[in-house]
Formats: sequence, structure tokens, C-alpha cells
Amino acid sequence: MGRVIFLAIAFAAMLATYASAYLPSRMETPQLASCVVPVEAPVSAATLAGPGLHWQCHGTRQDAAAQHMLVRFDLSADSEAEAPKYLRSRIDLFDQVELTVIDRDGTTRQSRQTQDSVRLISGEPMFLAELPEITPESRALFVRFDGARHDVTVLRSKLFKADPSRTMPHYHNMLFLALVLGMMLMPVVFDLAFWSALRSPFLLWHAALSLAFASMVLLRSGLVVEFVEISMATWRQLLIVSLGVAILVAAFFTNAFVEGGRLDQRLRKLLLAAGIWGFAASAIHALGLEVLAPLGGRFHTYALLPVLAVFIWAMADAYRRSSRSIRFQIVGWIPLLLAYSIEIATNVFPLGIPTEALPLFYIGVLSETTITAIGVADRFFLLRRERDQARTKAEALEQLSERDPLTGLHNRRAIDARFDELHRAGYETFALIDLDHFKPVNDTAGHLVGDEVLRVVAKVISADEEAIAMRMGGEEFLLVMRGNDAPARAEKLRNAIPIRVAQEVPELEQLVTASMGLLVAPRLAVPMANFADIYSRVDMLLYEAKGQGRNRTVSERLQTFERGKIRQSPESDRRKRDRRKPRAA
Ligand code: GH3
Ligand code: MG
Ligand code: MG
Repeated sequence: MGRVIFLAIAFAAMLATYASAYLPSRMETPQLASCVVPVEAPVSAATLAGPGLHWQCHGTRQDAAAQHMLVRFDLSADSEAEAPKYLRSRIDLFDQVELTVIDRDGTTRQSRQTQDSVRLISGEPMFLAELPEITPESRALFVRFDGARHDVTVLRSKLFKADPSRTMPHYHNMLFLALVLGMMLMPVVFDLAFWSALRSPFLLWHAALSLAFASMVLLRSGLVVEFVEISMATWRQLLIVSLGVAILVAAFFTNAFVEGGRLDQRLRKLLLAAGIWGFAASAIHALGLEVLAPLGGRFHTYALLPVLAVFIWAMADAYRRSSRSIRFQIVGWIPLLLAYSIEIATNVFPLGIPTEALPLFYIGVLSETTITAIGVADRFFLLRRERDQARTKAEALEQLSERDPLTGLHNRRAIDARFDELHRAGYETFALIDLDHFKPVNDTAGHLVGDEVLRVVAKVISADEEAIAMRMGGEEFLLVMRGNDAPARAEKLRNAIPIRVAQEVPELEQLVTASMGLLVAPRLAVPMANFADIYSRVDMLLYEAKGQGRNRTVSERLQTFERGKIRQSPESDRRKRDRRKPRAA
């Protein structure tokens, strides 16, 4: 079912893309070139007008390698019609453009422009050159491009009656573009917000990708010239490099975005290599090297073909491996990939498809940023859920390892990890409680009754709000307490043990008493205290209580930091070993 919906959306995206390429433009209908011809050398006006040139008309493609390309525009003899004033063409490198108007009586008017003297316009990556005066008497306009690197600069030159960048439809377009740009920057904000919650690299790559596409729109739409004055050469370079950067970032984003195990490892490497190659080829193309001049724009076109192929291959592979993320990316990228396929195709094969497919490009980047952004959000929420579940489980396991299963009290591990934190928080009283003659309890009443006694003791000593009760092992408990009256409270708890045990475990024949070692270790007196030292000391006090006849408390308050007093002395070690042996009361 999901697959059907996915295919339907993908198909709809494809149809929308094709439809958009044929949307009628609201701009003034420009006049297209009538015929073109490559020439060996600049020719005179007389030759231009004469029958000696082999003009090729009907849109036949020309070899861009020609150093001089002539374009002819046949002019209308209608005296009512407004005469064209501007030549507009696509931005690319050329040495100069010569414009010659020939009247019916043979009069000629000429002007020349270089790539630095033509005016860049916003709206499209186009430049504008003013024409010599055209009158109803003018027969034709001849445009000679010298050293044009790309044949589309020649073939897509058009005549306009008014500056197309100063018309209402143009301003509407600019407004739409500003909107597109705004929408493209939104994902950057989301990505960074997501990043603060989840450090996944694909979020940063997506932010970079949105920025790369936004700068491409800014440049490709020509909107940039409304803000800064740049030369045609610079604009062309920025345009090409921005495409290279977008390809590079797109490759790294795709690699980071596709879940682990959902894309062939070698394809991942190939994808990154393709991204790097796409960037390198663009950078080389941007340099406009003389050696590549004979190839015209085709160097870049051919260089990007394998990149496109690798992208499509990688996306297909991830789809086949059931990557969830790639579905969003495929739907989001269809218009853009199609736009580029069409552009590449029309640069390679002469198809009748409009090649200045800017609306298609805008739909492409918008679709990419919005749909991929939804995919990024989807991935983010999934990953966060996974992380939260893992965290909850880890916390549960942690709790499990710090809890004693019989009594539910914390165990020794809990205090080991938190001693310093607790001591600093005012937990300065340590009471070690050991039940007296517990072994006989087990022996006479049974182990299960013994367990019940331990549970009751745990309940009794857990009653104090300002104390943390722990089971250190066997029938030995530790209370970590705070408050000035902690020693008195500890003593009260110790005294409560025989009563509560007698009440709650009636099958017992003997009274279960407890002995206690109590140590007050003020943070001020022993700021460097560690748990091992404290435990050893309080254990010694407990041992003394046992030695003095049990069912009592021996306590001590540390006045100053005397390391030796806390530290276990060899003698106390020996006494401790003695205590572990059964002794008479
Ligand atoms: P003392 O007064 O010197 O402490 O005498 P005691 O018998 O309590 O001596 P000792 O500490 O050596 O004995 C501890 C006994 O506690 C040994 C064991 O049978 C019992 N015990 C330890 N852990 C558990 C337990 O989880 N459940 C039960 N039922 N008994 C336990
Ligand atoms: Mg005992
Ligand atoms: Mg014991």
C-alpha cells in the first residue's frame, strides 16, 4: 500500500514537472533568430546582405567550436510595429558581439559590445545588449558572436522591444523568487534546531544543501544583480561553482541521510566520489580554460552525466534496500533530476524541449527543500524515539544494577558512584547497621523467615526522609544521612528494629537486635574524604559495638581532617578479620 502511494506521488511530481516546462510565459514574446551560420573570419556588411553565406535556418544546430558565429534576424516591414531595441542572450564567455543593422537601401548601422560592456539583468541568467537603431526601413539585424564558448549563447539570443527586466511580469517573478528563497531558508532553521536536540550529521548536510540551493536560485535567477554589481564573467563563475557546490553537498547529504545498511558500501563511496568530481568539473569549467574552449559548454554537460547516473543509481539501490529516507528524497528530487536531465539532454541532443527551463528548476529546488525537509523531520523524530527508548532502557538497567532485589534498597554500587555528590550535598552522617546473631535466626526459623526479617529492617530504616538506606550485603545496612540530629534519628531507627521485626514476623522466637557504628564526617573537616575510607572507619566502629556486647551504638565525630584516623591501620585490618569470625556474646 505504502509503495503504491509512493509511486503515485512520484508520478504526479513527474507530470507536474513536465507540465511546468510548457507553462506560457507572461513576458513579452521575443523575436527569435531566423538563421545562423558559422564563418571563418569577420565578413563585411555587403557579404552579410549578399547571397554568398550558407545560412542555416529552421533551428538546425551549429557547431559551437566556430570562432565566429553569425545570427540573422529578419525584420518586419510593418511600419506600425514597434522596433526591437535589445538583444538578450544567455550568460557565457565570449570575446565580443557585433551588431549590424542593414536597411533596405543598403545603409548600415553598427555597434560592438564586449562581455564587460553588456548589462546583466535579473530574472534569468541573461545579459542585454542595446541594438543600433532599427527603423521600418531596416531589413535585417546581423549579430556576430566572436569567441563564444557555448553555442546556446548564440542560439538563444532573442530581440526585445523593451528591457524585459523592467516590466510588471518581471517584478511579479522577482516577488515569487523572494518567496521561493524564503521557503528555502526555512529548513536551515529547522535543521539547526533539530541539531541542538540530536547530533546527526545529516541535519547539518541538509542545512548546507538548502543554503547551496538558495544561493543557486539567487544566482541562477539573476536576482543577485539587484543587490550587487558583478561582471558577467564573475556571475558565470559563481553560477557554475554554486552548481558544483550543490552537487558536492547533495552527495554528502544523501550518504548521511540514507540509513546504515540501506545503501551498498561501494555505492556510498562512488556517490561521494561523484560529488567531488561534480564539484571539480564545475570548478574547471568555471575557469574557462582555453584548452576546453573547442568543447564549449559540452565539457561541463558531459562531465556531469556520470554524476547524474551515480545519483540515480544510488537512489535506486537505497530504494531497493527499503530505505525509508530515500523515498522522501526520490519524490523531492524528481523535478530537479528531470530538470537537469532535460537540460543535459537538450545540450547533447537537439530536442524540441524548451531549455531555459527556469520554472522547472524553481519547482525542483522548492520540491527538494520542502519534501526532503519533511523526510529529514521524519528521520529526526524516528531517531529521537530510538534514542529515547535506548536511554530509558539503559536507565532501567542502571537502576537494576544499583538496586538490591530482596529489599529494593540501593546497593553498594549506588553509594560508590555518588559518594562525593552526596557528601557535598550535606550527607555527612554514616550509620552502619548489622543484625546481631542473625545466623541462628536463619538456622532455627529458616532462610525464608530470615529474608522476611531483612525486608522489615529495610522498611524500618527507609522511613527517614533525609536518609538514604542501602544494603551493603548480608544483614548489613548503611544509612547515609543529613541534618544535625542525624545521629539521634539513626539511633531511633536502630531501636525500632527489634519491635517492628517482632510485630511483623511473629513466627520468630527470639528478638532480633542490631549493632551500629556511627560516624559523622563533616565536609568542612574532611573535604577530601572518599567512601572507602569512610566505610572502613564506620566498619571499625560497628566492630567495637559488637565487641562491647552488641545491641548498641559506637559513634565518632571527625573533628579535623586526620588522614590516619580515616585510613585503615594495619591493626584495624587485623581486628576486622577477627570480627568476621563467629564470636560469643
Ligand atoms: P553477629 O552478631 O556477629 O553479626 O552475628 P551474625 O550471626 O549476624 O554473624 P554473621 O554476620 O557472620 O552472619 C551473617 C548471616 O546472615 C549469615 C547468613 O546466614 C545470613 N544472611 C546473609 N545474607 C542473607 C540473606 O540474603 N538472607 C538470609 N535469610 N540470610 C542471610
Ligand atoms: Mg550480624
Ligand atoms: Mg554481618
